[in-house]
Amino acid sequence: MKVINNINELKEILNQEKLNGKKIGLVPTMGCLHKGHASLIQKSVEDNDITVVSVFVNPIQFGPNEDYDKYPRTLEADAELCKSLNADYIFAPAPKEMYPDLEKFSDLTMVAPPYALTDMLCGKSRIGHFDGVCTVVTKLINITSPDRAYFGMKDIQQLFIVKKMVKDLNFSVDIISCPLVREESGLALSSRNKYLSDKDKISALTISKALFAIKDGYQKGITDTKLLFDTAMTVLAKDVELDYLEFVKKENFESVENIEEPTIAAIAAKVGNVRLIDNIIIGE
Ligand code: AMP
Repeated sequence: MKVINNINELKEILNQEKLNGKKIGLVPTMGCLHKGHASLIQKSVEDNDITVVSVFVNPIQFGPNEDYDKYPRTLEADAELCKSLNADYIFAPAPKEMYPDLEKFSDLTMVAPPYALTDMLCGKSRIGHFDGVCTVVTKLINITSPDRAYFGMKDIQQLFIVKKMVKDLNFSVDIISCPLVREESGLALSSRNKYLSDKDKISALTISKALFAIKDGYQKGITDTKLLFDTAMTVLAKDVELDYLEFVKKENFESVENIEEPTIAAIAAKVGNVRLIDNIIIGE
């Protein structure tokens, strides 16, 4: 397992691997790897000859008041985990390597997903976030030319937008969706869980509990999403500040009032200063 910081060096290595007929899997991450990331890496190692894990905290997907500076960076531990999972390369570029003109941010060519998909859920409160995501994912795909790229259903809007980008712009890569991994307690694994105090964690647990209550309600016959929303609100701890809880069709992310087909209940909420997201699929 080798850590590479330089774009051209990685391109040369991977070009050679491709010439040798090797299939390449890319797992884009921001590091501080946990079992959720590990599940993506494992799947890539199973499916491909070569697995590249990118570890890059992408500055252009963070808003001015977000946690870019204090986002946890744990490259040594990440490398250990990747090694134990038999990944082949970590790509860990410095911001300057990815964006030599970062100060002249307005000069950067960006890949912008459609407004209809970003003016909702996380995109609504994180203006420009998905432009930053699509731009970095495009760069990572161009740098590594993977056969497959792995994304988690934890970031379900990101997954949908990336799949659409790849289809609309004719990228030659298969996007592989991987299931959301939870702690035994139900809490969705996230690098940001590191910020939670013990007390915060108890409150954070009510986020997944609220989603499970929605699933329960649906299984008992409630299909009206307003009623399911109210059920969830009775479960969410008082000190959890809701950003959104929305119901959208799994097929196209259109808003759902009455559940008649596979539907995503997606939530974002702040516990203290920590913004967490989670989702559950119902009606499948
Ligand atoms: P991040 O490092 O948070 O940008 O995540 C990198 C990738 O790992 C994304 O495709 C995420 O959806 C995925 N991921 C993060 N947490 C989880 C989780 N708990 N379960 C499954 N995938 C996850």
